[in-house]
Amino acid sequence: MSEQQMRKDPLAVILTSDLSGQCRGRSVRQADFEKYLSNGCGWVPANLALNPFGAIVEPNPFGSVGDLRLRPDPASLSQISTAGAEPTTLVLSDIVNQDGTPWDCCPRTFLRDAIADLKAETGLSVLSSFEHEFMLLEDDEADDDGVSTNIAFSLKNLLEKEPLGSSILAALHDAGLEPEMWLPEYSAKQWEVTVSPADALTAADRAILLREIVRNTAHQLGHRASFSPVVEENGGGSGVHVHVSLLDADGTPVTYDPTREGGLSAVAGSFAAGILRHANAVIALAASGVVSYERLAPGRWSVGGAFLGENNREALLRICPLFERPGSKPEKQYNLEFRAADATTNPWIVLGALIRAGLEGIRAQLPAPHVISGDFYALTPAELDQYDVGTLPTSLGDALDQLDRDTVVTGWFSPRFYETFQAVKRAEIEYVESLSTADRYRAYTAAY
Ligand code: GLU
Ligand code: MG
Repeated sequence: MSEQQMRKDPLAVILTSDLSGQCRGRSVRQADFEKYLSNGCGWVPANLALNPFGAIVEPNPFGSVGDLRLRPDPASLSQISTAGAEPTTLVLSDIVNQDGTPWDCCPRTFLRDAIADLKAETGLSVLSSFEHEFMLLEDDEADDDGVSTNIAFSLKNLLEKEPLGSSILAALHDAGLEPEMWLPEYSAKQWEVTVSPADALTAADRAILLREIVRNTAHQLGHRASFSPVVEENGGGSGVHVHVSLLDADGTPVTYDPTREGGLSAVAGSFAAGILRHANAVIALAASGVVSYERLAPGRWSVGGAFLGENNREALLRICPLFERPGSKPEKQYNLEFRAADATTNPWIVLGALIRAGLEGIRAQLPAPHVISGDFYALTPAELDQYDVGTLPTSLGDALDQLDRDTVVTGWFSPRFYETFQAVKRAEIEYVESLSTADRYRAYTAAY
């Protein structure tokens, strides 16, 4: 019997995303899915201790003990197309205890709780969108003489890649992710795709699904896509820029205030100040691969320093430009972009951490940070000091140490949640350091 003649039962997959942003789960026949949608399926606590390369890190707080359930959230229902079968149903879940109570190590619940606390204490909610860059590995950036054949942003590259772009946008649309833009990015082999903003939970859900859909569509069409922050020695960096803005209880945008510096409202200023205050601990949660720190360095158009900036693509927090014309609503466009994140991390944790840090800033009524306009490399050491511009962690180990020292941030997690994060990441450093340089890039490229 040929593969085509074989009967196929379309699948439905119940999913979570782990500490390294790996999307994992279990599948059932779509015909049986109703029952699983309400009851969920079993899950193993030690799965939280999986590293991005597939091994369970020892020691971890769970061992072989315990049982959990993945409880699907119907609001996250989506789909992905696979070769020769009906689209596969996807649903994201919260991890719960056997009695249905939230598990204290569930990454999605971490974001849910941050959203709920922000709302309860301030009445505010967050609108967000994750902007993804990635590499198409088969793209040849240089011909035999070493001359680059990558023509950034060009129509030539865009058309040569068809039908990949149109297929990715269609797949994202069919999955309900509201795609916006597809473009050849600056670095060799690099592409970018954006989706519309949504409430925080939906935005993070979309980020998780987007990576899977893009990789899968590329694979179906004979390409290989990787979201690894850096795929080869001296290669360009791929970021995941997280856009955030604040809405009040009525859904009115409240991030913008044209009377203030940079147009940043007082409450959004405190929110931004909270993120900067906890930046180096948050970076460990937002850029958690060993190779992440090759991308996060001055001069790479990722992040050059921990500051709030406008007209500058190396600000950790960037005020995005407004496109003003008669009748436009700048308050609806105005948003902050957190540029440090990459795909080695879990979008629920990244956005949860940004919301928690922002909430700390609002609670403490921190004054808005100084907005550095334009070239921050032109600032004198005295000015950097005056504006409180922080330096970034230089390695994953450094970032994890800085996280350890910020007890406000570590306090956002249950002790065993935090312990597992540190264990997974420290073991990842040890493993990756045992690899050759080429294998290090290969491991991250394959995992992401
Ligand atoms: N590739 C840059 C990064 O690693 C971002 C370039 C840009 O889109 O501004 O974040
Ligand atoms: Mg970009």
